[in-house]
Amino acid sequence: MTIGIVGAGQLGQMLALAGYPLGLDFLFLDRSADTPAGRIAPVLTGAFDDPALLAELARRSEVISFDWENISVDALRAAARGTRIAPPLRALAAAQDRLAEKRTFERLSIPTTRFAPVDSRAALTRAVRRIGLPGVLKTRRLGYDGKGQQVLRHPADLDVAWDRLGGAALLYEEFVAFDYEVSIIGVRSRAGQVAVYPLNRNYHDGGILRLTLAPWPAPRLARAAAASLRRVLDAFRYVGVLAIEFFVRRGRLLANEMAPRVHNSGHWTIEGAVTSQFENHVRAIAGLPLGSTAPRGHCAMINFIGTMPAARSYLAQSALHWHDYGKEPRHGRKLGHCTVVESSPARRTARARGLLRRLCPELSIEP
Ligand code: AMP
Repeated sequence: MTIGIVGAGQLGQMLALAGYPLGLDFLFLDRSADTPAGRIAPVLTGAFDDPALLAELARRSEVISFDWENISVDALRAAARGTRIAPPLRALAAAQDRLAEKRTFERLSIPTTRFAPVDSRAALTRAVRRIGLPGVLKTRRLGYDGKGQQVLRHPADLDVAWDRLGGAALLYEEFVAFDYEVSIIGVRSRAGQVAVYPLNRNYHDGGILRLTLAPWPAPRLARAAAASLRRVLDAFRYVGVLAIEFFVRRGRLLANEMAPRVHNSGHWTIEGAVTSQFENHVRAIAGLPLGSTAPRGHCAMINFIGTMPAARSYLAQSALHWHDYGKEPRHGRKLGHCTVVESSPARRTARARGLLRRLCPELSIEP
């Protein structure tokens, strides 16, 4: 069976690496073949919404998925015709638009940040009057890793933010002085079976994920997050892996956003769970039974952003797993990650601290 994937980044590469042992083949579509997945599988190269390329991907694949959500739902729907697409395009459409995403959370009674759509300078003034300062103005579409966002703290910031972002459809939301951030990742099979991974605690810097600790020992939050995730999975009759990111404020969860795909905060599952998120995504979309999401230990995952450290100084460490995506270094770019699997939360924290000090001394993250 061939799985077609739109987007050939590191997530696509990790999907293919997880699917090969199951006897599956992969075909990608991306703007360039010089991509992480292009190192291990064929890539159709051209625009993500090229109808001829999407049609070829559909013709040569039993099911189409995506490793990147900024792709055209309409082009994908038109080209796919008889071919199955998973996760469902309705879920992709909801995740692409921050307003639709917030409304999905509201409809499913999942607590989220207070928000207001903004489509004019006057609407921004009204939104700020209603929701207050500080707040965050975000583009509704094409935002990721903190891109397309402006924090507003003072009345004078409105004009500056409007000048920067005013050309696009926007959303204004309350600034959440959160205690910390978590995410939950789960998977739903074609038969409706659901499996959920343990809770992830996430540390960001400049809007980009830098460190994940999992399982995060907060059973009440884990139950609440899993319940929200199940509601979204069932509402969309979802197939594949879904992630939801939350702020934790005074012991309560506030949904920030969802990703209809495998997620960076679940990279630890490659070595740290019985079945990785990548294998479970592939199993789900291929119509296979799901694997166990149980953890194998206490994990820390550190992202390499902008520069890739030299592997040779770290590979001798025990239970340290190195992932170099083979990408050109560029400021703010995710180039690789490493995961450690430890026997207790205390050992995991100590290990993460030591690694962070050596690998990313510029960061002020203190797990
Ligand atoms: P996002 O692209 O919405 O996931 O935002 C990236 C990061 O920016 C989040 O993980 C938070 O650390 C921060 N952030 C986003 N929205 C807010 C908010 N409303 N209040 C406080 N921090 C935020």
